[in-house]
Amino acid sequence: MKSLQSYINEGLISDIILRLLDASIAWIGKGLDFIGDNIKASTSELWSTYKDSLKNAGDNPNANKQNPLYNIKNEKEFSKFIIEHGLSAKTFGERLKEIDKVMGSFSEATQTGEDDEMIKSNLHTHTTFCDGKNTPEDVVKEAIERGFDIIGFSAHAYTPTNSQWCLKKEREEAYAKEIIRLKEEYKDKIKILLGLELDYYSEVDTSQCDYTIGSVHYVYKNGKYYGIDSSPELFQKIIDEAFEGDVYAFIEEYYRLVGDVYNKTKCDIIGHFDLITKFNENGEFFDTQNPRYKKAAYSALESLLPENVPFEVNTGAISRGYRTEPYPAKDILQIIEKEKGRVIITSDSHQKETIDFYFDEAKLYAESTKVHIIDEI
Ligand SMILES: [Zn+2]
Ligand SMILES: [Zn+2]
Repeated sequence: MKSLQSYINEGLISDIILRLLDASIAWIGKGLDFIGDNIKASTSELWSTYKDSLKNAGDNPNANKQNPLYNIKNEKEFSKFIIEHGLSAKTFGERLKEIDKVMGSFSEATQTGEDDEMIKSNLHTHTTFCDGKNTPEDVVKEAIERGFDIIGFSAHAYTPTNSQWCLKKEREEAYAKEIIRLKEEYKDKIKILLGLELDYYSEVDTSQCDYTIGSVHYVYKNGKYYGIDSSPELFQKIIDEAFEGDVYAFIEEYYRLVGDVYNKTKCDIIGHFDLITKFNENGEFFDTQNPRYKKAAYSALESLLPENVPFEVNTGAISRGYRTEPYPAKDILQIIEKEKGRVIITSDSHQKETIDFYFDEAKLYAESTKVHIIDEI
């Protein structure tokens, strides 16, 4: 009979370990990123790295010490956790049944085989603090009702364009206070995160935030900010007025900013990578197969991928009727997959009814490229 160790050595459960690592990184804190390099390691090696990480994480304010992972005391418990965690993911069904045979004592957890341990989350949510329809508390209640484990608020941070859809400077403190209040009030029912969606041009204090999303909504040309996702008419106006009719010059400028968005904002998630396609469902403005388009988009990816920041799979434009597929396009997801990047599914919701809009489909869409999907950061 094969030992668990041999399954691990053959790489059969490296995917599970990968998932576990994602979870542990998020739960224990950001200080653990480096164990990601040890995905292929054996359980013992992994455990020894993990043990050290636990020590390092001791003083980390982001650490959630309630989490069972934080309390794993030895290699045996660590292996057991890997098995239990992995066995719950139905994606690995067949392989896991084999492992289950070997590890008979853990069989109970395997019989259901449902992904009931998958975390339901949405970290891209707007409320009445910016341009959303509902209060944060209404969104929290809805999220609890829909069985969410995590809900993150990501108000549009103040941007010098002073757009009406951004959080006002004078409301920043009230926003943070309210989310922190809700965190405490609902802590037994749901994990609530305080975030901000930073525009490339936002200059705000993020020290209270649990996370931020970095998004490009404007290009700046000839002393003027142009909002790229307002309407097809304005989109045409930008091409004509700022780029002398050359849509690809506009696209190149957009992706230049996207490629720099991590550098500029130090965000934790890359927001709607190809937002520029919002009004281009049927190729109305440009061809995404055009070499200039591809070159611009791919070079932005090239700048961002080494940062290891997850990209959104964002369903916002579908819920608002502009698009039939999430951002980003599949060829972009395929590159993210190939380069071992990660994605997180979000709905960019502006009302409580859409907090999990199109999530199942978005998951299938992303899974079809085999890209690594995470549930939390
Ligand atoms: Zn946005
Ligand atoms: Zn948004």
